[in-house]
Amino acid sequence: MFDIDSYHKADTVDEAIALLSQNPDAVPIAGGTDVLVRLHSHNPDYRHLVDIHDVAELKNITMEPDGTIVIGSGVNFTDLAQSPIVSVNIPVLVEGASSIGGPQVRNVATIGGNISNGAPSADAAPPLLVLNAHIELKGPEGFRRLPLHQFYQGPGLVDRNSGEIMTCLRISSTDYKGWSGHYCKYAMRGAMDIATIGCAAACKIDGDRVAGIRLAFGVAGPTPLRCWRTEEKAQGSVADQTLLDLVSGSVLGDLRPRNSWRASKDFREQIITTLSERVLKEALKRNGVSIS
Ligand SMILES: Cc1cc2nc3c(=O)[nH]c(=O)nc-3n(C[C@H](O)[C@H](O)[C@H](O)COP(=O)(O)OP(=O)(O)OC[C@H]3O[C@@H](n4cnc5c(N)ncnc54)[C@H](O)[C@@H]3O)c2cc1C
Repeated sequence: MFDIDSYHKADTVDEAIALLSQNPDAVPIAGGTDVLVRLHSHNPDYRHLVDIHDVAELKNITMEPDGTIVIGSGVNFTDLAQSPIVSVNIPVLVEGASSIGGPQVRNVATIGGNISNGAPSADAAPPLLVLNAHIELKGPEGFRRLPLHQFYQGPGLVDRNSGEIMTCLRISSTDYKGWSGHYCKYAMRGAMDIATIGCAAACKIDGDRVAGIRLAFGVAGPTPLRCWRTEEKAQGSVADQTLLDLVSGSVLGDLRPRNSWRASKDFREQIITTLSERVLKEALKRNGVSIS
């Protein structure tokens, strides 16, 4: 049984914002794959709901004239992975989307819910972080945009004011044109499982040197994290084994993995080091640089 005290269904974003403003205790429910699990365990924070599941304007994936890719927060992971705009231009996000749950979960779970729940294990987060994605929110005061890394504030905590809805994620063309990427989820079993560590890498090459490198990890700290210091150290390096060694030797300095019932800190550190090299190597390969 679910302890739902109030339920309101919105047909538009503005209606959802009005309903959230009128019901300050209410939270949005999109696919419900997190919210209903929490309600099932009698979490009191989810007893008042504003349903945005059928808000059509949140379900579009478009490309603006300047090449910016705009993904509605209500797009589910099946539709995301099948979108030609996404699969052709930002396949690293398809890798993240395809690794989530099983087909039934992916048919309803939304990208907006995956990011808004603030989970360090969100599989969409590392790919979106290496794509420099920006979040767009709309509330009673209008729109605001911020980089995804600033949206995350702590475990389960994001920069969303009550009354606000995440409308979309935006990826600028300069953040994917010329870039290649790869996402790998390490989980304890091959079947449906939450990541023990998720790692995404993206790179841009100029001649034989790194013109840009981005690395992001899930479950390696209180929020999904970018490896800013490592990225800076790698900038301008020759794209060879020395670069992979530099990166794998540096990433732990950017991260804060911990012990949990799922895996020990030591084990996570081992996986992080291994994945950083393996995932970057594949991203480089997709940019025409093979390191044997
Ligand atoms: C069996 C199972 C397997 C799973 N496996 C994975 C997995 O492998 N990887 C993974 O990352 N996750 C996994 N999940 C977690 C979950 O499916 C995802 O996080 C999913 O993307 C959440 O999206 P949703 O639309 O269902 O969110 P909901 O449950 O509807 O909402 C989640 C949170 O986001 C908020 N929210 C939703 N949409 C918006 C919006 N537009 N604006 C503001 N706030 C919003 C809600 O208020 C709530 O706090 C799994 C869940 C289940 C039940």
